[in-house]
Amino acid sequence: MSHYLGTAMRLYLDHLVDWEALLSLQRSERVDLDAEVGAFRTILETAAQLAASFEEPARKHWHAEASLTDDGGATSPPHIRAAYEQLRKAGLVSLPIDEEYGGYGLPTLLNGMVIEMISRADPSLMMIVGLQTGAASDIQKYGSEEVKRKWLPRFTAGDVEGSMDLTEPQAGSDLGGIATRATETEDGRLRVDGQKIFISNGGAEVHLVLARDDDSYDASKGTTKGLSLILVPRHKDDGSPNGVTVTRLERKLGIHGSATCEVVFDDAEGVRLGKQGQGFRAMLDLMNAARLGVASQAVGLASAALHDAREYAKQRKQFGVPIAEQPLVKTMLARMTVNLEAARALLYRTYGLLDRNIAREAALGRDDLSAAARAEAEAGLERDSSRVRLLTPLCKYHATEICDEITRDAMQVFGGVGFTMDSDVGKYHADSLIMTVYEGTSEIQASFALKEIGKGALNTVFKQIRDELAEMQNDPERAELAKQVLEMTHRIDQAGGVLFQDIGYALMRAKLLTQMVIDVTAATELLHQAGADSERRVVAEAFIARCSLGIEHMARRIEVDADTAVDRDAAVLALEA
Ligand SMILES: Cc1cc2nc3c(=O)[nH]c(=O)nc-3n(C[C@H](O)[C@H](O)[C@H](O)COP(=O)(O)OP(=O)(O)OC[C@H]3O[C@@H](n4cnc5c(N)ncnc54)[C@H](O)[C@@H]3O)c2cc1C
Repeated sequence: MSHYLGTAMRLYLDHLVDWEALLSLQRSERVDLDAEVGAFRTILETAAQLAASFEEPARKHWHAEASLTDDGGATSPPHIRAAYEQLRKAGLVSLPIDEEYGGYGLPTLLNGMVIEMISRADPSLMMIVGLQTGAASDIQKYGSEEVKRKWLPRFTAGDVEGSMDLTEPQAGSDLGGIATRATETEDGRLRVDGQKIFISNGGAEVHLVLARDDDSYDASKGTTKGLSLILVPRHKDDGSPNGVTVTRLERKLGIHGSATCEVVFDDAEGVRLGKQGQGFRAMLDLMNAARLGVASQAVGLASAALHDAREYAKQRKQFGVPIAEQPLVKTMLARMTVNLEAARALLYRTYGLLDRNIAREAALGRDDLSAAARAEAEAGLERDSSRVRLLTPLCKYHATEICDEITRDAMQVFGGVGFTMDSDVGKYHADSLIMTVYEGTSEIQASFALKEIGKGALNTVFKQIRDELAEMQNDPERAELAKQVLEMTHRIDQAGGVLFQDIGYALMRAKLLTQMVIDVTAATELLHQAGADSERRVVAEAFIARCSLGIEHMARRIEVDADTAVDRDAAVLALEA
């Protein structure tokens, strides 16, 4: 079995998910559990083998850039096209799309694992596969039946790829600045005109474009109202060009194989997904899925860095011993390992909640639920939606920041070689740098999370965590650790009370609060893992030991600084730089 299929992945596949409950809720028929889980295992094993085989070409051709094509598009370098082709042939694209459109209906947790493995080998390749799945999922959710029948089988066959076109020169974090215009013409066409920048996979056939509706253009300017999400293909049905041109490719510090494009839309014809003026809502779904995708990308890349660092430290000798035996190196490697496991635990927990909601939505769409089961599904859907809305930005924030740290630490473990092209760790770090920026920067994720906390989502998240921790108190192996985490949740509530007294201060300290919530959520999930596999208790123990001091420190910072920090920062910045 490929080492890409790691122990945490197998733990969730074999022990930590109640597949029978999930699948029978999702599809009304009886579930052949052995066959279903067997098929899941085959998918993961195939993905692991293929991804591992992509590693060497990806490292060797890391510098190879995407290029413009003669027909106004863009393409990735040959090694990435070859790897994509292998994934396509193995049927490993657009896996979560429903079976009726040729997909597999794969749970997002398992799809996330596939994305993680692909990213471990090549984060640039992941951009193609991730955006393809994201675009297809949004079409499935918001497209008319006609649009779905036209496009989804082509996505699941891997014949078309997708992109997500939001950013414009004046509209980055603030999508209220979008100026691309969507106009309904007198002959009933929907035309799109404008310029997008930084569009990953911008040479794709299918662009999901966020554009401002012409009829409310001036009135809605500067807001995220009055936007539509529009599917714009690069070609018309007869194969002629549709006014979508890649006019420039960015030269970047990393993910060279991923085409980052300026795309110009000139009288391009499209079809609306979802309702007019409600495109931001539809795009948020795609963005949230993409945020979890980027978190998987970061976890995958960090795994590659950790693996290389651990292997190198075992064989590199200084002062007569492998550097892995030097206490400072050993503790660095242990910290990298624990932090990676915690980021993965938070991410898998969030995918798990999302999968339950997808199953509930499917069940509520049928007519075979009893009144009681329907009420339960509706209440569960509402609760877990609130949890997912809070945990998604936390996953993206945490995994990408941790990836940045782990890839940087891996360079340190490699010493001078880490700064040369003789090792791969510098490439990983260069690739990691964009992850804290795209799909919403870390600051935007922290602000989003703060907003959800302000709306009460933290109570819902903590209610679940506290119930789980109370249950763990019955297990002597985990009782003491669970008690410590439980106390941390109360400490966070206390600090949160101080924080929210002043919204300016709350925004300033959003990262501290979100980090505390990340820590207790990840710690709880690590304790679940320890319950299923006692060998992993040590990971939970190490993480909780660090968190308990960290949370006290962050809580105190929030509390002692509340009256002074905003003015102090302003005073510091008033000084000449
Ligand atoms: C390689 C690459 C690929 C990309 N792929 C895509 C893609 O496929 N599709 C797409 O639409 N876009 C894509 N982007 C764009 C990306 O999503 C944006 O760059 C990102 O959202 C940040 O926007 P910006 O660059 O305009 O930075 P700005 O919004 O100008 O932000 C600059 C800084 O200010 C901070 N900031 C801004 N507002 C706030 C706030 N309210 N609170 C706190 N801090 C704030 C930010 O955190 C950041 O540190 C890509 C970018 C790159 C570089």
